Amino acid sequence: MLHERVSLASERWPAQTAVVMDEERLSYAELEAASNRLARLLRQRGVQSGERVCLLQPKSPAAIVSMLATLKAGGVYVPVDIASPAVRVQRILDVAEPRVVLATQTAGKLSGELKIKGELGCAEGELEGAKFGPLEVAQQDNEAPPSETSPADAAHILFTSGSTGVPKGVVITHAMVAAFLDWALPYFGHKPGDRISGHPPLHFDLSTFDIYGTLSSGGELHLVGPKVLLPAHLAKFIRESELTQWFSVPSTFAYMVKGNAIEEGDFPSLERVVWCGEVLAPAVLVHWMQRVRKPSYTNLYGPTEATIASSYYTVKETPKDTSVPIPIGEPCGGEDILVLDEHLKGVPPKETGELCIAGAGLSPGYWRDEEKTAEAFLTQPGSGLRVYRTGDLGRKDEQGILHYAGRVDSQIKSRGYRIELGEIETALSAIADVGECAVVAVPSEGFEGTAICCAWSSKPDSELDAPKLRKALSEALPSYMLPAKWLHLPELPRNVSGKIDRRGLKERFATEVSGV
Ligand code: AMP
Repeated sequence: MLHERVSLASERWPAQTAVVMDEERLSYAELEAASNRLARLLRQRGVQSGERVCLLQPKSPAAIVSMLATLKAGGVYVPVDIASPAVRVQRILDVAEPRVVLATQTAGKLSGELKIKGELGCAEGELEGAKFGPLEVAQQDNEAPPSETSPADAAHILFTSGSTGVPKGVVITHAMVAAFLDWALPYFGHKPGDRISGHPPLHFDLSTFDIYGTLSSGGELHLVGPKVLLPAHLAKFIRESELTQWFSVPSTFAYMVKGNAIEEGDFPSLERVVWCGEVLAPAVLVHWMQRVRKPSYTNLYGPTEATIASSYYTVKETPKDTSVPIPIGEPCGGEDILVLDEHLKGVPPKETGELCIAGAGLSPGYWRDEEKTAEAFLTQPGSGLRVYRTGDLGRKDEQGILHYAGRVDSQIKSRGYRIELGEIETALSAIADVGECAVVAVPSEGFEGTAICCAWSSKPDSELDAPKLRKALSEALPSYMLPAKWLHLPELPRNVSGKIDRRGLKERFATEVSGV
């Protein structure tokens, strides 16, 4: 069990620093005791095996304590993006049906706007309407409550963008994360005292590796807070924290290059540089490798549905040709990646097909959504293998190395966020006075990698304009989902089959329309 791995580390290295953020530091012993106390209180408040605890907390040591406490109580935590508008958070709470919602003062405005059915507790500070807070936690015993969790039980649910407008909850079990750690920790050589970045938000799948990779091996987890925003701040953070591992989405790598934040011979403590979640431009990698020479550089590939990553490729030398994409490599231990056609039959080597994942990292499915689970998790005829259809295209070369080749659908990555363009269209269509709309993505020069573009028409006599529409949309979607380019048309263009001409729109956005 994941929390047991952390408890074992706490027994071995009680005085070592476990979590750091700004001026705050928690030792392993403190982390253990704090999560035990909160676990006991959660139990008293009715959290039992499989019950959800939603976390409305910013990235912080307290949020890590809440995660571990939920697991120790036998529950399943659901980290929620507190920067999302209340309507979207409400949808997540409605399907998660939490027994307890743990919020902090920072999320006070948000929690005030929500209809919370479970019990509201305050994880840190004071919060209006909270039924329990730090005082009740402090009164609890420091010993962990007895655990009845088994590896197949859910540990957390991560909500990702859903094409029909409702976020999809990917159920992640203890065993899924453990399988990744069993491969990754020996591969990367994590050791006590390592100083590891915690850059992705805690509702991102990648953060799971930061948290449990670090805290099961006696390392220090250095959470990158909201103040560390600009390229120069990020570089200063890596330097001053003397990090031994940096792990983030490629957009952040590109952002630091654009900001010219990395000096020659920078980050002398770094031993490993790892990225995942989207394509890293080879030119960006070359910039890093020329300036930061010591570490190993590894590309991890994989969707949340197969936990953290399913394949890896460690770059052997600084690429000479920046037009050659970086491979996604070979399957991580316990995983298999098949290149299949639409009937789930293997395609010949070197041909492009859909990447389908099998093995220990596979999720049991989407939370309370049998239909979507049945669409994405299939049994391969003949082999009987359970596979997840990623929607990613790829091919295997002569050496059996995998290469990524784009998407089959309209899921995109922007600033590392996974976005279904359909979710944006659904939110737009719900706004009064919008006639038709089409959301497309075009490559962008900026670090975000992709610009979200919206073409729309309005209903007759409407006074809706792009700024008003953007404002209305921002009340339904988080800011990273808001289109950067807008095109108001009397009616949307059609292709010969009568469908909206998305290809034509993409061309227009790429060449004619500038951003707001
Ligand atoms: P998420 O569930 O947020 O991790 O997003 C998963 C998707 O991100 C995958 O299906 C891919 O489309 C994309 N992705 C993840 N890792 C990589 C990578 N190393 N290179 C290219 N795309 C990636």
